[in-house]
Amino acid sequence: MSDFETIIVGGGLAGLTTAYLLAKEGVETLLIERGNFAGAKNVSGGRIYSHSLEKIIPGFAKEAPLERRITREKISLMTADSAVTADYFAPASSGPGRDSYSVLRVDFDQWLAAKAEEAGAQIVTGIRVDDLLLRGGKVRGVAAGDEMTADVTVLADGVNALLARKLGLRAKLSPAQVAVGVKEVIELPAAVIEDRFQCGGGEGTAWLFAGRPSGGKVGGAFLYTNKESVSLGVVCTLNGLTAGVTTLPQLLEDFKGHPAVAPLLAGGKTVEYSAHLVPEGGLDMVPRLFTGGALVVGDAAGFCLNLGYTVRGMDFAIGSGDCAARAILQARQAGDYGAEALSAYQNVLNDSFIMRDLKLYRKFPHFMEKTPRIFSGYPEMAGNLMAQLFIVDGEPSQPLYKKVGSSLKEVGALNLMLDGMKGMRSL
Ligand SMILES: Cc1cc2nc3c(=O)[nH]c(=O)nc-3n(C[C@H](O)[C@H](O)[C@H](O)COP(=O)(O)OP(=O)(O)OC[C@H]3O[C@@H](n4cnc5c(N)ncnc54)[C@H](O)[C@@H]3O)c2cc1C
Repeated sequence: MSDFETIIVGGGLAGLTTAYLLAKEGVETLLIERGNFAGAKNVSGGRIYSHSLEKIIPGFAKEAPLERRITREKISLMTADSAVTADYFAPASSGPGRDSYSVLRVDFDQWLAAKAEEAGAQIVTGIRVDDLLLRGGKVRGVAAGDEMTADVTVLADGVNALLARKLGLRAKLSPAQVAVGVKEVIELPAAVIEDRFQCGGGEGTAWLFAGRPSGGKVGGAFLYTNKESVSLGVVCTLNGLTAGVTTLPQLLEDFKGHPAVAPLLAGGKTVEYSAHLVPEGGLDMVPRLFTGGALVVGDAAGFCLNLGYTVRGMDFAIGSGDCAARAILQARQAGDYGAEALSAYQNVLNDSFIMRDLKLYRKFPHFMEKTPRIFSGYPEMAGNLMAQLFIVDGEPSQPLYKKVGSSLKEVGALNLMLDGMKGMRSL
């Protein structure tokens, strides 16, 4: 007889979703979180695509602590002193499950933790799981000071995935598979945000930046507007940083001081500073996801996708928690938590948006890694082209094709065409 039917390690979105869904079905569930509360250790740029949670808690947007509905999308290619920006504004709601929102994880995770507790899950915080109990070749619970047994243990401990590594499910992360992100939350009055970012009350902007913010290496910067703050940060792959010219905190300082960014932050007060790893390897870093008595979900499973114009980890974390809960409920019905019974998790995942999207974009992380021009040459090219188009100085002007041609010279027209084709194919 086990102490619990399910023990979940980690109170991020993956673990909390699994806990909520299992507790709702009457499964005796314990979630252990090492932070002082759910969300205490979580870092996100802060934009959640609502579709996966909408399926689990329909209408959640009415009750959850969401910051702003994203109505404006911006992407900038940046040089040291210029920014070429695409701006897409669509204020009408696309409807439940199609909208996305800025969130502050400290509030959002605590809300989801409260939902899981209301459903009957036990959540203990401030305790770290140090090890897994292995009996008869199966995971039989956790060691967290005391030993606690469970029929099934869900590993939702985030990107480092130390427990999955201990089980041999996952190899050590390679520098090409992870990025490091640093993030600040900067307080500004709501009216100032709405003015500077041209959004109405309740509406917000998601803004991604490539080029200078990551020092021309693989990575980028982000900025999301909250109700009364903005979340902004810089993400850079470990490979990029080791080959880089400066440190990540310095890159963030440079980004905040960029002439296109600094006026947006003027008068703001930094209220939060955090750093975290981001899984960026796509499908190729997804490990074996189950063994006898255990499943791996969320970032611990490598479920994250950075496509340059979107970053998605939260909807994957929630979706994988949903898949894990379904597989556990099936195993519970059969009274069998062995590896074969839990392989149902892989099947449920294969039918979900998670594996579908990871498969679709499998080539993209390699494309980014192998095409450094995206982060250096192309932002420079775009800046040069705009300067050629818009600077009028009384000198003899050139026909448009010559202006475009001279801007293309640095990267080469053939490279641009080939990169464009490869990029399209990988997307
Ligand atoms: C800078 C940055 C920007 C991002 N931007 C976005 C974005 O805009 N949109 C988006 O969708 N995704 C974004 N992501 C990705 C997203 O944050 C993650 O994919 C998501 O949080 C994963 O959820 P999770 O529950 O799997 O892991 P986590 O949220 O990391 O939760 C893991 C939890 O496990 C706990 N834990 C770890 N080890 C133990 C242990 N031994 N014992 C007990 N508890 C333990 C941790 O304290 C933590 O609470 C971003 C990530 C970063 C770093």
